[in-house]
Amino acid sequence: MAMTRHVLVVAGSDSSGGAGITRDVETIAALGLRSCVAVTAVTAQTHQSVEWIEHMPPGMVAAQMRAAIAANSVKAIKIGMLGTTGAIAETATVLRDHSDIPVVLDPVFASSSGRPLIVQDAVAALRGHLMPLCRLVTPNLPELAALTGSAIAPDEASACRQGQELSRSVSTAVLVKGGHARGNEAVDLLVQPDRLPLRFVAPRLPGEMRGTGCMLSSAIAVFLALGASLEESVRNAKKFVFNILAGQSEISATWDDEQAAG
Ligand code: PLP
Repeated sequence: MAMTRHVLVVAGSDSSGGAGITRDVETIAALGLRSCVAVTAVTAQTHQSVEWIEHMPPGMVAAQMRAAIAANSVKAIKIGMLGTTGAIAETATVLRDHSDIPVVLDPVFASSSGRPLIVQDAVAALRGHLMPLCRLVTPNLPELAALTGSAIAPDEASACRQGQELSRSVSTAVLVKGGHARGNEAVDLLVQPDRLPLRFVAPRLPGEMRGTGCMLSSAIAVFLALGASLEESVRNAKKFVFNILAGQSEISATWDDEQAAG
């Protein structure tokens, strides 16, 4: 019997439903695949504040991953909040045993309300141990700045330079999410070692929505699970998330993938 394709979600729960595992699972289901999960942390959150964080023991994160992979046909892995160095090391060990499965890592450092979601040393561990094992890493501008030890990029050219620096140092593709930049366009940059950067442009929508990073990285994992190239996966996932944010409305995005200047 053919097994249904699954995406393994390695992430934290968010009691408000605004971000984290519930967002990931909803996204994967909306795109027609099934999920299995490894819970990395349980958080008590409203949409305005983080009240409590309990990180899972590292061995429990690894055990959930191994069991999920044993039980299903896992075709891609999405990693979100992974807040301790121990859990990062254990996750890396599991990934090394399954190097055929593409991994998308959304480096979650803080909630929109500003509360840190990972311990300080975990930033270095993510970069040193986990990122080299991933197919794609999807930082926003503040996360990219923390990962490269720089100030938050003030413009697209510096965002591109920081993305290239990270991409070279971890030998992995980086999608720099420009959602935090100003302007009337949301520009994301796909930076890969030894390739010219690609720009993905969408009109900026008004308002703030939580969990968009979770949705985008999960949607990219779905398209990778379906066998699409990295570039196609990013393009399709961005369209999908834009349509959700636009409330499936009549707004039609002009999709303009070009080589970035930087
Ligand atoms: N809480 C959890 C468990 C998350 O995984 C994330 C992001 O991935 C967040 C909070 C942060 O989301 P937001 O920036 O929407 O607050």
